[in-house]
Formats: sequence, C-alpha cells, structure tokens
Amino acid sequence: MTDNRTLVIGTRNRKKLAEIQRLLDGLPVVLNTLDDYPEAGDVEETGKTFKNNAVLKAAETAAAIGEWTVADDSGLEVDALGGRPGVYSARYAGPEQVDENNMAKVLKELRDVEMERRTARFKCAIALAAPDRLLFVVEESCEGRIALGPRGTSGFGYDPVFVPDGYGRSFAELGSEIKDRLSHRGKALRRFREELKKLLQQDNDHGR
Ligand code: IMP
Repeated sequence: MTDNRTLVIGTRNRKKLAEIQRLLDGLPVVLNTLDDYPEAGDVEETGKTFKNNAVLKAAETAAAIGEWTVADDSGLEVDALGGRPGVYSARYAGPEQVDENNMAKVLKELRDVEMERRTARFKCAIALAAPDRLLFVVEESCEGRIALGPRGTSGFGYDPVFVPDGYGRSFAELGSEIKDRLSHRGKALRRFREELKKLLQQDNDHGR
C-alpha cells in the first residue's frame, strides 16, 4: 500500500478552486492548493487555445513546485462575436478582471442581436502535468445562449448571463448542483477523474 499521491490544483481563482475541489472529492489523492506553495509564481497565459493555456499552466507550475499539478483553462465563446471573448474571457473588459465589467461588455456588444443568434458555449480544458512531463489533457464544452441581462447570484464569471441549452434560467440561477451536472468544467472533471484513476492504478502497479 503506497501513500496517496499529492495533487496540486493550480488556480488562484477561489470559485473555480471550489468547483474543482468539489468535483475531485473522494479520489485517493491529497489535494493541495497554490496557497500551500507560496513560492509558485503566476503563469502568463500566452496560448491561443484553452488547451495550450491549460498545458502551460499545469507544466510550469508542476516544474516550479515539484508536484503533480492540475490546471484548468476555460472561457466563453460567443458565435455572434466571432468566438470572443474566448481565451481572453477573464480580462475581456480590462486587466482588472472584474466579472460585472466583462458581462457588461458582452451584453453591450450583443445589444442588437436577437435571441436565436445569441448562441454561445463555455469551454474547459484541464491538464495534468508531472514536474518533468505532461500526463494528459481533456477538453469539454457546454452549449447555451447569452441572456438579455444578468440574473442570479450563484457561481462566478459569466454565470449570470449564460443560459444552458434546455433550461430557461442562467447558471447563476440554477445553482452549483445543476451547473456541475451540465457545465464544461463538470464534464471535463468527470473525464479527468477517470483518466486520473487509470494513471494512479498504473503508478501503483509500477511502485512509483
Ligand atoms: P482562466 O482563469 O483564464 O481560465 O479564466 C477563465 C474565465 O472564463 C473566468 O474568469 C470567467 O470569466 C470565464 N469562465 C470560465 N468558466 C466559467 C464558468 O464556469 N462560469 C462563468 N464564467 C466562466
């Protein structure tokens, strides 16, 4: 019997951290956060895709702290805006990264766009890296529409303006249980769990 492996969640976004912790709960790993590694610096997100950025964040952080690290890169793609804000979702309205300002900018840009053309999707890539190599990466999405205005208080980011397909309410109104079931991050983390379980099994079989 080997000790549980340590897995570090490489994000400083508290709300995202809470979702990842909730969805990785019960795995035979010790889950640490970046608060446990004050020496870890911030990784610049220079990639052009969610996958590139997730890999970059996981690999650089794992190398810096010497532990397996999981990193998520996610964002919103709005069809009528040619896929924006995309990888710039967090800082769409400026470097201050204020959710309300980001939503206001999207809503303003969509002010003349009718409901049928307000289609959008959240995307989420999650990578796991060891200090010296990438272990794997998964990507998932969640289709929906941009509401006419913000509604609800749960979640974070663009949740108040995102209405998932098949529902009449925003993620912020639907709450965390339904969001976890439908969301890009929920789906990606369920696949991540399966991949991680296989890897931990192999790791144990080889005695690490
Ligand atoms: P990241 O930290 O670069 O991955 O930033 C992702 C950004 O995309 C967040 O700051 C939000 O603005 C947006 N985003 C990603 N996932 C979600 C979500 O589940 N709900 C709402 N907004 C999200």
